[in-house]
Amino acid sequence: MANAKPVAYVTGGSRGIGAAIVQALAADYHVVAVARSAEKLSAVATAAAALGHNVEAMVVDIADAAALAGSIETVIEKHGRLDVLVNNAGITRDGLFMRMDDADFDEVIRTNLKSAFVAARAAARAMIRAKFGRIINITSVSGIIGNAGQVNYSASKAGLIGMTKSIARELAGKQITANCVAPGFTTTDMTEVLPPQIKEKVLDLIPLRRFGTPEDIAAMVAFLAGPHAGYITGQVFVVDGGMSM
Ligand code: NAP
Repeated sequence: MANAKPVAYVTGGSRGIGAAIVQALAADYHVVAVARSAEKLSAVATAAAALGHNVEAMVVDIADAAALAGSIETVIEKHGRLDVLVNNAGITRDGLFMRMDDADFDEVIRTNLKSAFVAARAAARAMIRAKFGRIINITSVSGIIGNAGQVNYSASKAGLIGMTKSIARELAGKQITANCVAPGFTTTDMTEVLPPQIKEKVLDLIPLRRFGTPEDIAAMVAFLAGPHAGYITGQVFVVDGGMSM
């Protein structure tokens, strides 16, 4: 029998933006949080449990297409449904274009872009059956305006935008929506590694004069997953404090 609560599958749910998305959805959904670190996932599940919410942790390397598809099939089989897919996990392997090697390009494309294709295809089987589904892909302002040192990353994020629009067109007839959320500079492990002078430069470019928080991004994801977003598909929602306007 299908789970009474709608089910959400969130990649990169162990920290940063993904962990905030997990917490934002946990009250209304049975959330499956996915990442490679069992320990960090367990901390997220414990934090949710403290608020009376049940988060299921699943260790998966999303760069392994077979493992990712298999884990989504397992979730569908176990719960009888999959209502919301959030493709959030992502990596950077920054470097100047002329010095970037093929391995760094391929790894970023496989992790950030191909995984979203594999996950959406696996999830869509249950969504088509249910004639309902929400696919939310986390892209980046780098995929819209570009960023020096990120040809691989911005290509993966721009690719996500095109792919999301095509999925939105193909699945609209089944009442499945597909949208992107494009964060600007958000305070997480991903941006923590940047030198202070780069952070200062970026801050100067943000009209709202602060970096984003994971919760800023999670709020948009929760809205797109929820009942008030049923007539929105194929769109990109930029959450960047005005940086890219
Ligand atoms: P983060 O703090 O580095 O966290 C990345 C998450 O993805 C972690 O949960 C990580 O868990 C997971 N992950 C990475 N590779 C994985 C793999 N192969 N398999 C499974 N899980 C994997 O990043 P973040 O800043 O929260 O970013 C989340 C998303 O927002 C990414 O797509 C990123 O590109 C996008 N974004 C971020 C910013 C920003 O300023 N932070 C701006 C624009 C867009 P494990 O390491 O445990 O696997």
